[in-house]
This record gives sequence, C-alpha cells and structure tokens, in this order.
Amino acid sequence: MTRVAIIGAGPAGLVAARTLVDAGADVCVFDKGRRPGGRLNTREHGAYQFDHGAQFFTVRDERISPMLEDWVSLKVVALWEGRLVRLMGDTAEVARPTKRYVGTPSMVSLAGELSGDLEIRRSTRIAGVERNKKGWQLHDERGGDYGAFDQVVIAIPAPQAVPLLSEVPLIQRAVEAVDMAPCFAGMFVFAEPPPMDFDGAFVGDGPFTWIARDASKPGRPDVEAWVVHANSEWTRRHWSGDRTDVTKRFLEELTMRFGPFPNTLFERAHRWGYALAGGSAPGVLWDAKLGIGAVGDWCLGGRVEGALVSGIQIADKIVASG
Ligand SMILES: Cc1cc2nc3c(=O)[nH]c(=O)nc-3n(C[C@H](O)[C@H](O)[C@H](O)COP(=O)(O)OP(=O)(O)OC[C@H]3O[C@@H](n4cnc5c(N)ncnc54)[C@H](O)[C@@H]3O)c2cc1C
Repeated sequence: MTRVAIIGAGPAGLVAARTLVDAGADVCVFDKGRRPGGRLNTREHGAYQFDHGAQFFTVRDERISPMLEDWVSLKVVALWEGRLVRLMGDTAEVARPTKRYVGTPSMVSLAGELSGDLEIRRSTRIAGVERNKKGWQLHDERGGDYGAFDQVVIAIPAPQAVPLLSEVPLIQRAVEAVDMAPCFAGMFVFAEPPPMDFDGAFVGDGPFTWIARDASKPGRPDVEAWVVHANSEWTRRHWSGDRTDVTKRFLEELTMRFGPFPNTLFERAHRWGYALAGGSAPGVLWDAKLGIGAVGDWCLGGRVEGALVSGIQIADKIVASG
C-alpha cells in the first residue's frame, strides 16, 4: 500500500487525503494548527463566533458538485442568501447573483466533515522534507521525524511551501514566483445593529475589501457579529501595530464611512499573513519520478474551490502513478 504524507490540513490537503484514502492509500496529514481547516476556519470567543477567513465559496467544477450535494444533505454546508451589495463611494449596487455556500453552523464545519477519520497530526509544523534511500522523511520544528513515505503532497500557502521544496528546484522556483497578500480581519460584536443595511458588502474603495454580518449566514447565533477585511495595502501599513489599536482604526474607518457606531461587546483583530493568492496560477505541481508535489488555492486561482480541485488533481496523479 502506498504511504503518502500530506502537509497542510486546509481544503486542498484534506480533499487530497480523502481521495487517496478512498483509493486505498495509507495517508498521514500534518498540520501546524490545533484543528484542521486552514483559512477555511472559524474563530470562537465564548458565545461569539466569526468566519474570519473564507467568507463563502462558489462551485462551478463538475468534480466538486457531487461533493457539494453530499455536504448540503449532511447539513454541514448551506446556501447563504444574504443581501449582498457592491459599495463604491456613495453608491451601493446589488451584488452579482450567484449561489454562495457557507459551512454550517460555522465555516469550519466543512473542514470537520472532510477530516472525518483521517489520520491527522495536529500542532505539528513540518520544517524539512528530505529524500533518502528509504523514501521521503519529514522533520518537524521540535526535532520529530516522520517517515518513510512514498509520496509527499505539500498543501500549504506558496511562501510557506518554498523551504520544503529544496529537493525539487524546478517546482521550488515555480512556487517562489507566487505572490500571496496579507489581510487584517476585524471581528466585532455590536450592542445594537450598526448603520449598515446589508448582510455582506464587496467594497471597491477605501481600506476595506469586505464587510459581513455573520448572523445573516445560516445556523449562526443571533447576535450583531460582523467581520471586516482590510485590503493588503492597509494591512501592510498596520501589520506590526498593536492589535487593540488596529481594531480602533477599523472602527474609526467604519464610522467615517457609515456614521456613528453602537458600542462594541467584543472586538478583536486577526492577521492573515498569506491570505489571498494573486497573479498567475501555476497549476498543480507534481514530480512523478520523485513522488513529491505542491498544491493549494494558489495553483488554481486562489479560492476554496481552486484548493479543492487542486487537491483532487494531485490525488488523481498519485493514483495514476500506481
Ligand atoms: C481573509 C480571507 C478571506 C477569504 N475569503 C474567501 C472567500 O470568500 N471565498 C473563497 O473561496 N476563498 C476565500 N479565501 C481563501 C480560502 O480561504 C483559501 O482559498 C483556502 O482556504 C485555501 O485552502 P488551502 O488548503 O490551499 O490552504 P489553507 O486553507 O491555507 O490550509 C493550509 C494549511 O497548512 C497548514 N500549514 C502551513 N504551513 C505548515 C507547515 N509547515 N507544516 C504543517 N502545516 C502547515 C496551515 O495551518 C493550514 O491549516 C479567503 C482567505 C482569507 C484569509
């Protein structure tokens, strides 16, 4: 039985692992986080929860559609029918109608479903990937060794994948060329409804790119919990700032745009170092001879669906190689 290591338990790594297990492979997934999900995740603070990373996902690929049907029937995913707008200056237009899906009761539910009974080593940050005559060996940052594996899939944001690809310089160079932008996420609970008459807004100007009322998504607690995403330029400018100051800045910017805000019951900022992939997408990178490759949203356009498709594609390549 082929033994495969997957580094990264975001949607790309999880769906690759699931596909390989279904094909009979022996798979071990490694993730530096305490729970699977990656940027498809949920932040919990007492009774409050926030989708602070991915907000929703769309499905166009025919390989993902049957999975989506299963997730919906299992009630881990549902359609979000919120009132979405596109803001630019003083104008607000209704956003392009499309089917937008979310995890229920929170975004991380989908990762929970994909994780199922997979073997996942949590809180394990892989710091080295090397090949010897037994196969692939992994090392974590605390000196733990894992292996040998026949194949390795690196399913993490491109800049974090680069140091793990030193055995395959051609792939490493392709991954090095991928740019990923940071994003500050602001999470707020207001004592009363704030002066924003939408459930989600794509923002075309100013420091924000996105504002959403979490409670408008299916299955969420009925509180005025909101998530705000800053653009990469604003994020870089405030990156090393104190996070309490950053939430204050968020509120100042919101007040300038929408008018006075009610008191907050909760406020917090989260830094996503490698939030969104931009530029050209290299596609799934796989060295069939050595049995190592790299996938993730950045391979195929930088969204949840791209991550899922990339995971399926690399698993198919491994299965095809016998
Ligand atoms: C603020 C924000 C908003 C977004 N909005 C949307 C949206 O609305 N719609 C949409 O479709 N997408 C959105 N995205 C993008 C979406 O979250 C990603 O496309 C998707 O999560 C990528 O999945 P992935 O598996 O490629 O990587 P990730 O989700 O990043 O998963 C990678 C995993 O690898 C782990 N890891 C990293 N390095 C190591 C290491 N050395 N060792 C072990 N584990 C490691 C991480 O802990 C993580 O769990 C958003 C992302 C952010 C941050």
